[in-house]
Amino acid sequence: MQDRIKEYASLIVRVGANVQKGQTVVVSGSADNAWFVRMLAEECYDAGAREVVVRWKDDTLTRMKYLRADETVFDSVPKWLTEFFNGYAAERASLIGIMDDDPELLNGVDAGRIQRYGRASGEALKGYREAQMRNEFAWCGVSIPSPAWAKKVFPGAAEKEAVEKLWDAILKAVHVGGGKAVEIWREKIQTMARRAETLTKYDFDKLIYQNALGTDLTVGLPEGHKWVACGDKARTGFTFVANMPTEEIFTLPKRGAADGVLYASKPLSLNGNLINDIVFTFKGGKIVDAKASSGLDILEKELELDEGARYLGEVALVPYCSPINEMDILFYNTLFDENASCHFAFGKAYPAFLDDSLSADAQKERGANDSFIHVDFMVGTEDLSITGVTKDGNKIPVFVNGNFAF
Ligand code: ZN
Ligand code: ZN
Repeated sequence: MQDRIKEYASLIVRVGANVQKGQTVVVSGSADNAWFVRMLAEECYDAGAREVVVRWKDDTLTRMKYLRADETVFDSVPKWLTEFFNGYAAERASLIGIMDDDPELLNGVDAGRIQRYGRASGEALKGYREAQMRNEFAWCGVSIPSPAWAKKVFPGAAEKEAVEKLWDAILKAVHVGGGKAVEIWREKIQTMARRAETLTKYDFDKLIYQNALGTDLTVGLPEGHKWVACGDKARTGFTFVANMPTEEIFTLPKRGAADGVLYASKPLSLNGNLINDIVFTFKGGKIVDAKASSGLDILEKELELDEGARYLGEVALVPYCSPINEMDILFYNTLFDENASCHFAFGKAYPAFLDDSLSADAQKERGANDSFIHVDFMVGTEDLSITGVTKDGNKIPVFVNGNFAF
């Protein structure tokens, strides 16, 4: 196991963030998994990093803060934090985010506190997030197990066994184990780029989603949209992989052009709470009704965050036969569940889906949605059909029975 974890750390640094000589790397990781953060830092220095800066997280302290800190704490973000992120973004430091959060960390916390802090940090870090979504620097989000998360995924196993099983699943999902992960990823980047190119050439006007869960949704796509897959180029000129694992090919929907009903197919871990059985109704692109069997208050608060939160910002295609879905594990972690299922996001659209040299206003005019948030949620099922409608009205099957038709 130790060798495989080392191979994983090396993959994150060499292919994920693709750390270059002389570059600063900002790593966010949790204190409980400090040993992995140190291993990653060592790999960064081996790759020639100038400095590795760590921003520590701690689940217990985060929960304690939401329960016990003063009311005023949730309405602002300290200035130094904004400066920290903007400063490193300006010097094009690479960012590696290690996610190992308990999916239900903030269960029972006042939803108003979560919403207010979400709005405050959204406002304070807007420029930084914008730069990240424009790929002005390389960034890579990955996951490692924590006991709380592993126990949620494997409730029947003892803690140690659950953590081992989750490590196993994570490493499998990122193709680590045979010592050839770097080569596998280089090939994967090319194969997925070809599929994205095929979709871009169709230049669809809209997509129609249908399945037996009850989904019946038409989503418009904007003029000049591009389908993209992993392997973005940062402004530094180097390619990086934003998410590991990744199986998605994605683009942006046209704001204002979604109508119908959309059923989520997996629970969503949002702000430390699980939202189950989401059903959205769309009218003129806007979510006009949201239902959920649990966590509805958290979901509603998120949709109220700003004007753009109720509009879609991403359309992503993932075959039902994706290797992650075939593991048949519900991860309760969007990084994994979104790569096991077709999904959408509500909130901000990635500028890279259109010509990213367009100004923010020009992007908006074409139909790119803007918001503080970007939340992926899963909708793929075994029987999902997606039909593409071209500009001259031709109907092309894109997904048949949950998988790519071509
Ligand atoms: Zn996605
Ligand atoms: Zn997304």
